[in-house]
Amino acid sequence: MSAIDDLPPLREVMAAFGLDPKKALGQNFLLDLNLTAKIARQAAPLEGATVVEVGPGPGGLTRALLATGAARVIAIEKDRRCLPALEAIAARYPGRLDIVSADALAIDLRALAGGPVKIVANLPYNVGTQLLLNWLTVPDWPPGWSDLTLMFQREVAERIVAAPATDHYGRLGVLAGWRTRARIAFDVPPQAFTPPPKVTSSVVRIEPLAEPLPAPLAGLETITAAAFGQRRKMLRQSLKALGGATLLEKAGIDPQRRAETLEVAEFVRLANCL
Ligand code: SAM
Repeated sequence: MSAIDDLPPLREVMAAFGLDPKKALGQNFLLDLNLTAKIARQAAPLEGATVVEVGPGPGGLTRALLATGAARVIAIEKDRRCLPALEAIAARYPGRLDIVSADALAIDLRALAGGPVKIVANLPYNVGTQLLLNWLTVPDWPPGWSDLTLMFQREVAERIVAAPATDHYGRLGVLAGWRTRARIAFDVPPQAFTPPPKVTSSVVRIEPLAEPLPAPLAGLETITAAAFGQRRKMLRQSLKALGGATLLEKAGIDPQRRAETLEVAEFVRLANCL
């Protein structure tokens, strides 16, 4: 019996259902239910909440979310081998776990749940950044999620929370900084996972800003792609195809500056001048 519920330990679940981790699906499982409970607590408050979990796998985090009080968990899993293990959890928590057998990249959150959801996930590393970008670049704001509690590789987490003039600052930091407040909650060492990945991971908590600075999304994406595509060059050069020095002067930005020195508000000004 485990500490948080009366379901079998996850190692037994993996053996019973033949869940050998597959690298191609980013399967690094968390088998310590105390650790998954710690992640669930970062997503607080869970009472009465609807949670979308991407990639439940054998269900360690799913169990923690349910045991911690989430009213409903919608778990989206691509690997059909995991479905029987998840069905056993659904039976233990009647009416509270919906299992969606699908690719999370193809799912529209608004169609999935009635109101805003919390998203909590130990993300598959191969699609984690793309999923976050999808959630950050929805056309309507506030988005269909109330907050995100997500595990990434530490290096990706640092890019999400990066401030200007730091090594990790780039497109991801600008988009996250524009629309959200993001912080690293805690690190998780490789040996906490089965199998262990090569690098340290971090849990990141992201909350949407009620009123981000108004900016055209497509323009902001175009500007950041061009500016950070040649991050060591002066902006008058990297933004040449978009108007170069003329555009920068219109936005009140010195054309000799480099992308990594610009505040988020300055990228917003540029996007508005495009
Ligand atoms: N939540 C489990 C845990 O913490 O032990 C598993 C996390 S594992 C890092 C990532 C999970 O995402 C795997 O179960 C994998 O099958 C699933 N997955 C990978 N790509 C996916 C996708 N595109 N859509 C939904 N699930 C996916």
